[in-house]
Parts: sequence; structure tokens; C-alpha cells
Amino acid sequence: MPLSFRVLGGFGEDNALYVTVDTGQRISRLMFDCGDGCPHSLETGDLLAMDHLFFSHFHMDHISGFDLFFRVNFDRDEPPVNVWVPPGGTDVLHHRFQGYQWNLVGSKQRGTWDVHEVATEHIRTTRFYAREAFRTAHPQGERPRKPVIVAGDGFTVEAHQLVHGCVSLGYVVRELPRVNVDTAKMAARGFAPGPWVKRLRGPAATSSEVVAINGTEHSVAGLRSELLVTTHGDSVAYLTDFRMNVATAEYLAEHLHGVTNVVCESQYREADLQLAEDAMHSTASEVAKFASRAGIGRLILFHVSPRYLPDGLGGLLVEARTIFANTSFPDGW
Ligand SMILES: [Zn+2]
Ligand SMILES: [Zn+2]
Repeated sequence: MPLSFRVLGGFGEDNALYVTVDTGQRISRLMFDCGDGCPHSLETGDLLAMDHLFFSHFHMDHISGFDLFFRVNFDRDEPPVNVWVPPGGTDVLHHRFQGYQWNLVGSKQRGTWDVHEVATEHIRTTRFYAREAFRTAHPQGERPRKPVIVAGDGFTVEAHQLVHGCVSLGYVVRELPRVNVDTAKMAARGFAPGPWVKRLRGPAATSSEVVAINGTEHSVAGLRSELLVTTHGDSVAYLTDFRMNVATAEYLAEHLHGVTNVVCESQYREADLQLAEDAMHSTASEVAKFASRAGIGRLILFHVSPRYLPDGLGGLLVEARTIFANTSFPDGW
């Protein structure tokens, strides 16, 4: 499958999400948050090849594993390391970069880091260099923020602002739709495969353009509308550390409608709603109600409070499943 994902970290531990998109020509690697032990469960080669690291927010449990990521990548220049952060996050990362003794780095150091701060109306990028011991923040300009913040090879990433006392960014990775030739229809028409098939996948045709099949000419535009089928790709959302209040539930149900996989925080059980409200987190049943309303495919609950560990997490899962049946914990929990 082109899009796959894995929740990093077990229950009661820090968690993160690792996503890969394999187009057949290239594998893109994306990581969401960097909690303690999370990058440690990936291969060094995958960390070195990480295309983007996205942070939801900077509470400790989401950045405690960053040292390893930084150690592996601090001197990477090609491509630069891309990190996406909520408002105020550039300063937090700048402090992290400078939290080491850099007396032995010199002009030969190549490391280049681009930190993209996702605000309500714009995205501001700042560049940092290892050769400068990460001292200077180099502004790279601002651009208006659109729903899609990254358009990668065969996928897009959207960011959504969630409420957690601070801004917590939620993200959605969507595979681009795939256009294929319907081989069953081809066979039914008696069309033998040939170079003409390649032409169908190419740019839109003029009304007069034709191709020859079995010695007979056919309009390319006509064949395209008859034989091409579009398959909507898979998608995965990463939503953590936020209060699922009425406005947020409404917003997410609209913007995440039909997403095939939603990895969502579920810090508390329903009986502990007051704790959820005080700590700006969500309960399993609130999350499940959103899932049902948004018509998503599968709900994966994570970032669960360790207070439920002594009695197991089964009760929390049952609460969610009563409302949205296709709910589970990550594989291996
Ligand atoms: Zn957290
Ligand atoms: Zn938090």
C-alpha cells in the first residue's frame, strides 16, 4: 500500500506517528512529534531520510526525543531538514539547537535547517546553519497560509489549529487520487493493450486527437472518459493534545470528513470529563462521537492517560466502540 503509518511508543509512554508514502519511484518519510523514545524506534537510515518533521506543540512529551533526531541530522544539507511548528515554535527550536557546545564546528559544516512556523494567516520560514553553530536565525520570508502546507510526491499535508491552552497543530496526510485504466472495460471492448494506453494517462486531449487500436481510430477524449477510473487515495490524520469542544468537533467533522484513518488522542474516560476540561484534553467518547459524525474509516486511539493502566485500557476502548465500532488502539498495544 502506498501510504502506511505506525504509532511510535507504547501505552503510558510518549507517542508519535511515522508515515511513509511510496509512489513506486520514491518513498517519502514524515514524522509527527518526537516524544521520548519515539525516534529511537526507527532505523537511523529512516531518520536520515526524513522529509519532514511536524510538531503539534512543545509540551515535553512531544519533544523529549528530539535530541536523537537532531544528533543524526544536525549536519544534513541536502535536502535541508524541514520542521513544521506552531506559533512560537521557531524560538523553542532555536533554543534547542543552541543547547550544545559547538566550539569544534567550523565552516565545513553543511547542516541546514528550515523551520516553518504555521500561524493562522501565514507561514513564516526561518533558516539555521550548523556552520554558524545555529546562532543566527535567517528569516526566509512569509507566505499566506493555505489549507495544504506541503505538496509532496504523491501526497499532501494539511494543518489544522486545535485548542490546548496553546495552539496544537493537527495534521492530515492525503494520498493524491490515482487515475488508472479500467482493464475489465478494455477487455470487454476487445481493445488490445498497446502504446495508446500510455496516451490516455497523459495530458488532456484535443477533441480531434485520435489513437489507433486494432487498426481502428478512436477519439482520445472519448476513450479517457470511458476507460479512466479515479481511485481516491488513503489518508491519515494525526490529532493530539486538544479539547474536543463543540466548535472543534464541528470544525473537524467538516474538514476531516471521510478521512480513512484518524489517529487521535483519547486522554480520559467519560467519567473524568472534568479532568479533560481542566487539562484541555479529550475523552474517548467525545473522540468517537466526532469520528461517527465525520464518517471516517478507522479510529485509532492513543495518548491515553497512564491513570488507567492498573486496570487496563479495555474500559476506555469499550466506551469509544459503543459510539464508533471501528475503533482500536495502535498495533502492538
Ligand atoms: Zn501530550
Ligand atoms: Zn500537551
